[in-house]
Amino acid sequence: MRAECLLLIASLEREGGWSLLADPEAIRVLSSPLLSEDEIGELARLTVTFRANQNGGTHAAGCRHVSARAADAETLTIAAFRTAGSGRHPCQACGGGILASLSAEQREQIAGLAPVLETRLQQERENAAARRRMQELIRRADAIDERARRIVDGWHWYLEHEREAAAGYPVGVESVGVACSDCGATAAITFEPRALRVCFRCSQDAGHGYFRMPGEDDEPLPTWNHQELGYVAIALVALVLAGDDDTWCRVYGTRAADYRATADALAAFDAANPEPMRLTPDIRCGECGNVMNSFTITEPGGGKESYYECGTRHPDGRYGRSKKDDVDTAIDETLVRLLRQHPSWAAVPQLEPSTATLAQYADYLAAKIKAYDTNVGAASQDPGLSRQREELAGKMNTVNAIREQGALAVAGLTGYQPGLWFSATEPAFTALARALLTTLVNVGENKITISTPLDHGTPLYRTLRAREIRDELTELERRQQQLAEELAELSAAD
Ligand SMILES: [Zn+2]
Ligand SMILES: [Zn+2]
Ligand SMILES: [Zn+2]
Repeated sequence: MRAECLLLIASLEREGGWSLLADPEAIRVLSSPLLSEDEIGELARLTVTFRANQNGGTHAAGCRHVSARAADAETLTIAAFRTAGSGRHPCQACGGGILASLSAEQREQIAGLAPVLETRLQQERENAAARRRMQELIRRADAIDERARRIVDGWHWYLEHEREAAAGYPVGVESVGVACSDCGATAAITFEPRALRVCFRCSQDAGHGYFRMPGEDDEPLPTWNHQELGYVAIALVALVLAGDDDTWCRVYGTRAADYRATADALAAFDAANPEPMRLTPDIRCGECGNVMNSFTITEPGGGKESYYECGTRHPDGRYGRSKKDDVDTAIDETLVRLLRQHPSWAAVPQLEPSTATLAQYADYLAAKIKAYDTNVGAASQDPGLSRQREELAGKMNTVNAIREQGALAVAGLTGYQPGLWFSATEPAFTALARALLTTLVNVGENKITISTPLDHGTPLYRTLRAREIRDELTELERRQQQLAEELAELSAAD
């Protein structure tokens, strides 16, 4: 009996005394991701023994919440317990495990961390509550916004839905002054709440802002209710629908102004800053010489077709437009033809943009992204603007990848094999490869002309071709020598 007691005391002392007992509070504090590794400090070396259920909950071995399919007991340091598997969470009832060997000093340290954690948990709860309130605010604002948008669109079937509510709206006409989208003269957008009628009227020409399909007698279609003026009109309607409810105003009140500010800031940025380099080929309209940009049309069946367009109406009344696939195929055919004769030219270091240019481009993109972000505010959901933001982020990713791996590698040109690629049905070159391997692509009505940095007469062509010829001559000399020696041997034998 006495011996058993001594044995028990000895084993408890070896394990660190009574602190071997489950200490829910200590494990909760030490495992919380709201405390940093630095804050945990030396305590990270303590070990915890636990059994983990399949859902990630961890328990002291004897806890009644340990499931039949729980893993065997394991022991980890607090450091490993904090990182191993993010799904791990200590049980509230038992503390999640058994903490070994806590000294009085360590207990004190943990007790000191507890109030820090409590403050952070409180902050988390407040943040979550604020997020929920904001989501609710946005949800209510979106509901009003969607109704206002449909009223601006003016589809008769939808206006019937709103007819009943409209009876309670103020009598009269709401109006806001704007600049005409066609001529820039003063114009007005008006809303008659009782009639649910939204109109645009240019002071110079009543036809402005509307579009009639040729040869049709239907009502003219509004062109003004896209983008900025559309947002002005939605605001006019939404304020009436919202009445005393200020949620719409708090969420979308500045949207039209933010849209204009962002569009202006981006245009001013473009005017002041030429793009230092290109990640796509320089494609010009053969008629007017303007840059052609690509865009994609989603067809009614869901299919997509991409085009290059110069954005200018030519004297014959048509826009310069070409299917993107046709132009890309023409570029690829030219490049494959060129590189079949000189395969190694696909990856010559001279095609790499300089470190300075890349740094300049990264700065350019960062500044343009900043111009966007500081202005976009309530207009961040606009499809056109957010697409531009995505493109900028995509370019930044590419530039970062180029700075790490080199442009030729990112463009997929370092392992170029002309023989393998010629028959491939997939596009042979990436957009970046086309950009690196062409200087100009001129898209005429019947002819696409492609200039490359490797064309006859360019400095790079002269350098590379001279090297090629020198290598070939060296090889010929070697061969000549070989033949001369062989001949000499044959003659000596006679
Ligand atoms: Zn438990
Ligand atoms: Zn006008
Ligand atoms: Zn053109």
